[in-house]
Amino acid sequence: MPRALVTGGAGFLGSHLCDRLLDDGYEVIVMDNLITGDLANIEHLFAHDRFRFVKYDVTEFIYLEGPLDYIFHFASPASPIDYLEFPIQTLKVGSLGTHKALGLAKAKRATFVLASTSECYGDPLVHPQKETYWGNVNPVGPRGVYDEAKRFAEAMTMAYHRYHDVRTRIVRIFNTYGPRMRLNDGRALPTFMLQALRGEPLTVFGDGSQTRSFCFVSDLIEGIVRLSRADEVYPVNVGNPHEITILEFADKVVELTGSRSRIVYKPLPVDDPKVRQPDITRAREILGWEPVVALEDGLRRTLQFFREKVARLGEAGPGS
Ligand code: UDP
Repeated sequence: MPRALVTGGAGFLGSHLCDRLLDDGYEVIVMDNLITGDLANIEHLFAHDRFRFVKYDVTEFIYLEGPLDYIFHFASPASPIDYLEFPIQTLKVGSLGTHKALGLAKAKRATFVLASTSECYGDPLVHPQKETYWGNVNPVGPRGVYDEAKRFAEAMTMAYHRYHDVRTRIVRIFNTYGPRMRLNDGRALPTFMLQALRGEPLTVFGDGSQTRSFCFVSDLIEGIVRLSRADEVYPVNVGNPHEITILEFADKVVELTGSRSRIVYKPLPVDDPKVRQPDITRAREILGWEPVVALEDGLRRTLQFFREKVARLGEAGPGS
């Protein structure tokens, strides 16, 4: 039975990864300091005899008894408002946290999987983004804390591979959505869904012509699990190449929810990437993977989750 550590396992992606690994028969240990993670994402796993949660800040030395086959390093604030609120923690978990997790991988001879990001490409001058593109990142802008931490994490991961012969994998994750996203994480999808469900105007930043490509979480997890078992040390993009403008995306949410919300325009955040679309040729070739969930289906499944969550908040009343 493989034994895996998932850092950031109480977060949106980390918790879905835990579900999948447990289904596949793994023993799973989660470490999370819960600054952006939420126990509600993993409480259904507490009774599972192959699951263990440790509240821990992985920027500190990580001690874990027993053998370990995989480390999935998923800990990090990951939405623009989170890394604006936690800039130092974001830099620390990408740098010190990656170092500690790699040290543990080396000691245990475990396979290390880094959750990297399309933010490595910054505001890209090459479109769609291939893994060979080095990116266009502003190191001193507000997003720099996340982008540079992840770029450092990739460099550190390659160094541990080259100098310590650690089995490493780097997945560059593009925009992903699905159940368990936080209502208030500030990202386009939860914000729009919440606004639509409450009949409030949808806040589109800029003129809404910037693009993103949204991947449903089950597709993403499949790609990551395949990469963890493949033999590829260089970064692999995992995301959905179906690209749409943020304005089209807002319209889709309004349509799907049957809301009467209108659109209002707000200033574009600093360094907001104008385009984003993964080139997934490498994922197709190396992993035999591509997304299978259509945007409408994924949005419907996500909407169900948000409806229930909003209803529960309503029952709990204001201030909850
Ligand atoms: N966005 C928006 N309204 C919102 C939140 C986000 O128009 O209320 C835009 C944001 O400026 C960006 C895109 O939606 O262009 C995706 O933003 P998100 O925060 O979801 O993720 P990012 O891809 O920027 O990390």
